[in-house]
Amino acid sequence: MKRVFRAASLLQVAHARNVLLSAGIQSELRNQYLAGALGDLPMMETWPQLYVDDGDEQVALRALARAAAAPVGAAWTCEDCGEVLEPQFTSCWRCGTSVSDKH
Ligand SMILES: [Zn+2]
Repeated sequence: MKRVFRAASLLQVAHARNVLLSAGIQSELRNQYLAGALGDLPMMETWPQLYVDDGDEQVALRALARAAAAPVGAAWTCEDCGEVLEPQFTSCWRCGTSVSDKH
């Protein structure tokens, strides 16, 4: 397994996990309940983290990079079918067009 993402906020990690799922990649969430635990671990080691199979690492990193590059906080309109989509979606749920195809 390879770690492809970590963040202090479980929300961010959950979002990243959704990004991977929409790219067809299963990920494993670790440290979900460890954050906030006291101990000798370095802070970042206690953050929630996403792991994927070794073979999925490159695809996962690309999917996350695409999602990070997408505009955040603004709805977007699918150029193919006109559907208005929430910013957290990186592809159109109706026709499957990816927002990153348009940039
Ligand atoms: Zn569409």
